[in-house]
Amino acid sequence: MAAITNHMPTAELQALDAAHHMHPFTANAELGEKGVRVITRAKGAYLTDSEGEEIFDAMSGLWCVNIGYGRQELADVAARQMRELPFYNTFFQTTHVPAIALADKLAELAPGDLNHVFFASGGSDANDTNIRMVRTYWAMKGQPDRKVIISRKNAYHGSTVASGSLGGMTAMHEQGGMPIPDIHHINQPNWWAEGGDTAPEDFGLARARELEEAILELGADRVAAFIGEPVQGAGGVIVPPETYWPEIQRICAKYDILLIADEVICGFGRTGNWFGSETMGIRPHIMTVAKGLSSGYAPIGASIVCDEVAEVISSGEFNHGYTYSGHPVAAAVALENLRILQEENILGHVRDVAAPYLAEAWATLVDHPLVGEAAICGMMASIALTPDKARRAKFASEPGTVGYLCREMCFANNLIMRHVGDRMIISPPLILDTGDIDEMMARIRKSLDETYEKLNEKGLLKAAA
Ligand SMILES: *Cc1c(COP(=O)(O)O)cnc(C)c1O
Repeated sequence: MAAITNHMPTAELQALDAAHHMHPFTANAELGEKGVRVITRAKGAYLTDSEGEEIFDAMSGLWCVNIGYGRQELADVAARQMRELPFYNTFFQTTHVPAIALADKLAELAPGDLNHVFFASGGSDANDTNIRMVRTYWAMKGQPDRKVIISRKNAYHGSTVASGSLGGMTAMHEQGGMPIPDIHHINQPNWWAEGGDTAPEDFGLARARELEEAILELGADRVAAFIGEPVQGAGGVIVPPETYWPEIQRICAKYDILLIADEVICGFGRTGNWFGSETMGIRPHIMTVAKGLSSGYAPIGASIVCDEVAEVISSGEFNHGYTYSGHPVAAAVALENLRILQEENILGHVRDVAAPYLAEAWATLVDHPLVGEAAICGMMASIALTPDKARRAKFASEPGTVGYLCREMCFANNLIMRHVGDRMIISPPLILDTGDIDEMMARIRKSLDETYEKLNEKGLLKAAA
């Protein structure tokens, strides 16, 4: 059988992909017709495709390549670990050095008494762990009826049946029998889209107080936990009003509800601190981590658990685990990634250089006729596209039509920027210097200008009634 190499003509690779590869979150038949883009190499913030085009990756892959592409050290560590011990499990009274060292490192980096680590292969399965862990915690404490987990509409917590249920994406819930029982969704703190005439601070409080209303309605003795992303990522990089998280924190404490921070995107420098919880002033009982944990170089995730929850869970047997929990190669790669983040002071670079410079440039986007809100937190940012910013109006077209068109323009300009409905989002590598940011912003502005022209041409600049 012939090896599938990079040296095949693009059209042949596309045909093979269309014939046999089912892509996630994709209308596959349509993509097959159009022809997929084949990525062959990457370095820093740039991807190279099979046609030799250089593409600026303003999404860090899928929010994960925090230290940028092409770091030799991670490849070396992976190769060394594969030779020494490619796999061993942690189920049956055994462990290995990479899992020990990574758990120890995460306990050191995580705030407060988050000192215990349960490994997974990614964010979805780590959140599955969290669901079972918080319910088991309450059951072991003699309160088995505390099962309900409160989450938010338009949250993203993964794509397994349980983590997809935990998330609040309606398009996902419509397929395959979700959500599972005992997950309750309250409204998100998205002021731009849903705040109406309310001031952002009041809106933040009102949305947080929906948690209290839900607890009272469900009965506090039935609620196990609340979960939220410090800054919603896949929902459109929604930065909550400042009043939101302190009120959520207060309500969780009042009713003795466990607080889970899903740090899969916000963790490991994205917001300028190790964790988004620090940036937002949250004190969670459990944090979900993945993505930036290994900068995407190897699949790994984890639940980082506080002393109290870990102590109760550890008092019995927790009948749960994954073959690849704490996989030695993935753990070694994650450790090396954390070493680089720390020794190269990449968080300092984000805080002192990249994030302030990006924030200044990002704010100027509201001068563009298409841009309403320009939101940013550290190195994750979004813009709301609108036909009428004074009214924060939505487009008359089907939601997502304009966003999709803008994304196509970005793609044509060799820029990866994602759309969520009619919001455009970025989450670039943390290592960008000011020159990189200038280049990215130039491509964004060009793409926005071309989107505006196209919308004008097609008569799509109309606001919904
Ligand atoms: C991506 C993501 C997940 C799911 O992680 P996977 O590694 O894709 O399973 C969970 N939570 C958040 C906030 C995410 O962004």
